[in-house]
Amino acid sequence: MAYQLNSKLCDLTPYDPIEGNYSIRLDANESFININDSMHKSITDAISKLKLNRYPDPYAQNACKAFAQFYNIDDKYVTAGNGSDELISIITSCFLEKDDKVVTLTPDFSMYSFYSSLYELTPLVFEKNKNTLETDCGKLIEFCKENKAKMLIFSNPCNPTSVGLKRKDILNIIRNLDCLIVIDEAYMDFWSESIIPDINILDNVIILKTCSKALGLAGVRFGFAIAGLTITKALKAAKSPYNTDCVSQEIVSTVLREKQLIKNSITKIINSTKNLYNEICNIKDTSEIFETVYPTNTNFVFIKTNQAKKIYEFLLTKSIAVRCFNGFLRISSGNPDENNALINALNDYIKR
Ligand SMILES: *Cc1c(COP(=O)(O)O)cnc(C)c1O
Repeated sequence: MAYQLNSKLCDLTPYDPIEGNYSIRLDANESFININDSMHKSITDAISKLKLNRYPDPYAQNACKAFAQFYNIDDKYVTAGNGSDELISIITSCFLEKDDKVVTLTPDFSMYSFYSSLYELTPLVFEKNKNTLETDCGKLIEFCKENKAKMLIFSNPCNPTSVGLKRKDILNIIRNLDCLIVIDEAYMDFWSESIIPDINILDNVIILKTCSKALGLAGVRFGFAIAGLTITKALKAAKSPYNTDCVSQEIVSTVLREKQLIKNSITKIINSTKNLYNEICNIKDTSEIFETVYPTNTNFVFIKTNQAKKIYEFLLTKSIAVRCFNGFLRISSGNPDENNALINALNDYIKR
C-alpha cells in the first residue's frame, strides 16, 4: 500500500522561486551589490583556516557580537538562525501550542501563516486597508484582544507592500498587548523606524533581522532574533544545536565588521530604489498600465495593476524576472543598468 501523508502535508508543494534563467533578477529583493574583492579575500583567507572536522560554535558568538555592535545593542539579546526563516519556524513551533491563535496580516510575508498552519496553530488574518495597504493599529489591537491571540507577527516595513508603521505606532501596539509580538524588520535598514533601540525594555517582543537583504548575503543563510533575556534563553535552548555552520559564521562576522562598507551599500540601494520609484511613477502618470504605486520604505517598489500577469510574462520574455501577485507587481531595485532595462521593457510593453 502506498504511504499516506497526513492531511497537513498532502497538499503541500516544495517552495518554488521562479525557475529558469533570467539575466535580470528583480524578483527576490536581494541586494544588487555583491561583496568586493578585498572582502572576498579576507573571507577566503579566514575560511581556509577553519577546522572543518569540528562542530561550529553552537551560538555563533562572533557573528552575534559583530551584529550587536553594528546595531548598537548588547549581544546578550541576540540569537543566530539559519536565515530568519529558521527563526520564524522555531518561534511558531516552540513558543505556541496546538490550536493557539496567531494573528497575521494580509498582505504580508507568506511564511508566517505557512509555518502557523504547519505547526497546527490557528492563523487569524487581519486585513489591511484595501486602498492604502496601511494597518489600522487600533483595530489590530482590538482584533488581537477579541480573539485572545497568543502571537502577533508581521513585517515592518512590509514585504510585499513596502508600506510600514512608524516606531511610535509599533510601540503603541506592544504597550497594549501582552501576547508574543514578532516584528520582522528584514527591510528596516532601508528606513528609520526600528524598535531595536527599545529592546531592553520589551519583554514580549522578538525582532527578526536577516542577512539576506541589506547585507547582501542571501546565499549565506543567516538571520538574527533580538529579544529580552527570557525569550533569548528559550530560543537558544529550543533551536537545533548547530543551526549555523562555521563557514557562514565566518562570512557574516567578517562582513558585519565592515560597518562603513555596509552603510555605503545601503545608501546605494536606497538611492537606486528612489530612482526606480520615480521612473515607475512617471510610467504611471503617462500611461494606463499602473493603478497605484505605493510609497517605498524598502529596496523594492509595489504596484497595483490589473495587468500584473501580462506585464510579468512580457518582462520574462525580455529575461527580466519580477514578482507577480494577484493584481500586484513587486519589483526589487537593481543596479542602474538593470533598472534602465526594466524601464525600457515597460515602455516596450506600453508600445506593443
Ligand atoms: C526576505 C525576507 C526574510 C528573509 O528570510 P531569510 O530566511 O533570512 O532569507 C524574512 N522576512 C521577510 C519579511 C523577508 O522579506
